[in-house]
Amino acid sequence: MKITFFNSKVYDKQFFTEANQAHGQELEFLEVPLNESTCVLAKGATAVCVFVNDTVSAPVLRQLAEAGVQLIALRCAGYNNVDLPVAAQLGLKVVRVPAYSPYAVAEHTLALILTLNRNTHRAYNRVREGNFALNGLMGFDLRGKTVGLIGLGNIGLITARILKGFGCRVLGYDVQDCAEAAEIGVEFTSLDDLYAQSDIVSLHCPLTPQTHHLINAASIAQMKDGVMLINTSRGGLIDTQAVITALKSEKIKYLGIDVYEEEGNLFFEDLSGKVIQDDVFMRLLSFNNVLITGHQAFFTAEALHSIAQITLQNITDFEQKKPLVNEVR
Ligand code: NAD
Repeated sequence: MKITFFNSKVYDKQFFTEANQAHGQELEFLEVPLNESTCVLAKGATAVCVFVNDTVSAPVLRQLAEAGVQLIALRCAGYNNVDLPVAAQLGLKVVRVPAYSPYAVAEHTLALILTLNRNTHRAYNRVREGNFALNGLMGFDLRGKTVGLIGLGNIGLITARILKGFGCRVLGYDVQDCAEAAEIGVEFTSLDDLYAQSDIVSLHCPLTPQTHHLINAASIAQMKDGVMLINTSRGGLIDTQAVITALKSEKIKYLGIDVYEEEGNLFFEDLSGKVIQDDVFMRLLSFNNVLITGHQAFFTAEALHSIAQITLQNITDFEQKKPLVNEVR
């Protein structure tokens, strides 16, 4: 069956080609993102394989269905970019990779926390320039600090386990009960308590209409002065302007983000020779206590291997009319 990949990079081609030896599908790798003007390129394909910033809106889905596409295979966990009701109306199936390496994202979350706390991003530059002064590099012990995790799914729980290893008190909030959280010593709290008590707040819930701008001026006001805010989930969870205001007043003392609400215009591309037009993003970059990575939390060899295997299995199951265990409705 023909599968057209949008937004594909060299590493996608490498890992999918390798995993495809067990599936024998026909893979077409396109570098362009999926949107209203590029969806015509899927003509002749039964499935399209898309990533986090591809546009899988109602008009795109209609054109894909008209072109003969039957399956949308997301090679990621989040599916906030897909208009699911319209996909269902058109009879298009949507599958995803619910968990490929939650360890990759949880470990990246810790990388952001530790870098910001111990200023290793600044120390790296200083030492390279022969500046061994420690002024301005003081951190704090993680041991004994309270970390609030919003979302206790795969990634939230692994993050909790790692933080417990550091001796942190871990608070958690989720819309669902989570027995495993209690087993590993996470204290289930209300959002209000989590904001009020946490030295570090880390986001691990999906982006939905309910969670859009969950972190806004009102929720930031509830947080401790000097809080560290970490987001490895989805950019839209944070109202960036409100966070910038809080960084300026030092209410937020550290910000670590792997995702950004307008990242679709920036991330995954080399824009180093261009003038970046996003003034909000450039303001964020101007703070030395803000650490931004370009949606790379998932980017480990183990995760890419797993993404390719699970995505191709999802597609083969669809082809063989087997139950779609990773279907999103
Ligand atoms: P998951 O589905 O296992 O867990 C998400 C949890 O969030 C669930 O327990 C769910 O009940 C909870 N939740 C839903 N709505 C909530 C709300 N309003 N408030 C609090 N909790 C809520 O997902 P996961 O694998 O742990 O991934 C979490 C998120 O991480 C994904 O949605 C995705 O956006 C993001 N992610 C980012 C990267 C990256 O590279 N940066 C990679 C993978 C996933």
